[in-house]
Amino acid sequence: MPEFIHARDVDAGTLLFQEGDRGDDAFIIEEGLIEISIQSEGERKLIAALGPGEIFGEMALIANTPRSASALARERTRLLVVRRGRLTKPIENADPVMRLMIQMIVERLTDASRSLSGTNEMVPQAMQEARRQAFEEVRDIALRRVQIERELRRAVETPQFELHYQPIISMADSTIAGYEALMRWNDPQKGQVSPGNFIGLAEETGMIVEMGRWALQKALADHAAMVPVWQRSWPDRPIPFVSINVSSGQLIEPGEIERLSAIIEDSGVSPDQIKLEVTESLMIHDPEAAVDALTELKGLGVSIAIDDFGTGYSSLSYLHRFPIDTLKVDQSFVFNMLNDTTSGRLVRSIIHMAHDLDLTTVAEGIETQEHFDHLRDYGCTLAQGFLMARPWPRFDIEAMLETGCSW
Ligand code: C2E
Ligand code: CA
Ligand code: CA
Repeated sequence: MPEFIHARDVDAGTLLFQEGDRGDDAFIIEEGLIEISIQSEGERKLIAALGPGEIFGEMALIANTPRSASALARERTRLLVVRRGRLTKPIENADPVMRLMIQMIVERLTDASRSLSGTNEMVPQAMQEARRQAFEEVRDIALRRVQIERELRRAVETPQFELHYQPIISMADSTIAGYEALMRWNDPQKGQVSPGNFIGLAEETGMIVEMGRWALQKALADHAAMVPVWQRSWPDRPIPFVSINVSSGQLIEPGEIERLSAIIEDSGVSPDQIKLEVTESLMIHDPEAAVDALTELKGLGVSIAIDDFGTGYSSLSYLHRFPIDTLKVDQSFVFNMLNDTTSGRLVRSIIHMAHDLDLTTVAEGIETQEHFDHLRDYGCTLAQGFLMARPWPRFDIEAMLETGCSW
């Protein structure tokens, strides 16, 4: 049986779900009898009685909407449960056109099975109307996503993307230790779009996979060009690292780690100059997959940073399971650390704990000298923020690296 399906036996009288419940599973009946009913005008109305081979709760696999009916086992029933969270790629994140088509097929099958069992006339007008509205909503979302996906695809092909680089400074001596590559989108119509407005959509549509490949390749090519410039100017200083953001969506895409590894190898950049920044999300939702993915990347010799640390509520106690080198303290804690004692304590304890685990710490979003001084006193290793430098286009950062690079 595939990993996303498991068998479950329920006794007569078991309520599997009711209206308003979160829908996470779909069910296939192997043996037994399930009644589907809805509450209407103060009474419960039966809308279907389903037997072996029939499917119910299937909308949960397609749309993240609450249950619109109840399902009750009339007799002892054996079910196969299909868990949305276990699908390799949730249908919600699948190609929007595919999702729309699956939804249409499910709607049609549901209607067909209801009219076959003669229960269609029992579906009240209001429910049919609600289903039509839900369907139109999904269709609109799908169409919008198709459009954004098309725009992002064009942007990768042209390319309309660009990388800016923000210096990361050593707190001990205020010299440059590395720089982070941050994506910018120069849209011909909208002008420069900031990542806050497109990375989330790129993740939802899956376009982040191609964009992430592009960013890694470009950042490493830029870095390879920078190394000789640096060595000429600063022969005695260590070469700064280049930090690149990698989304969870890239790590779970089958075969993607091999592709990213090939990009790293082909770049000729020494892996000890490369840092990959990942967020906590994969570690929380699928720790096993995260350990595997990070171990594979780490095997190349690159270092791994956890970005936005502290926002994902991941447990500090299991950090040691992941092969990481660096924690980046999220900027929201840095912003608030001086006027909110909880944030201040949190920043301090994250830094101390990281020290105990031999991890490097980077504080992000440092805008004032006061923040810088406090963080240095807490023992933070590296600093990133507008106080030192904003993200700059490649040629500006190259000029900065060539001439002055201490703060
Ligand atoms: P991030 O990885 O946490 O990057 C740091 C963000 O904080 C950047 O925003 C940077 O410009 C901003 N920042 C740095 N110092 C300061 C400061 O002192 N004050 C303030 N207010 N902001 C500061 P940006 O460039 O808009 O990027 C936003 C997010 O988009 C990034 O957050 C990252 O999550 C995502 N992103 C950017 N480029 C990529 C990429 O190539 N791949 C992926 N997967 N995500 C990316
Ligand atoms: Ca980052
Ligand atoms: Ca961050």
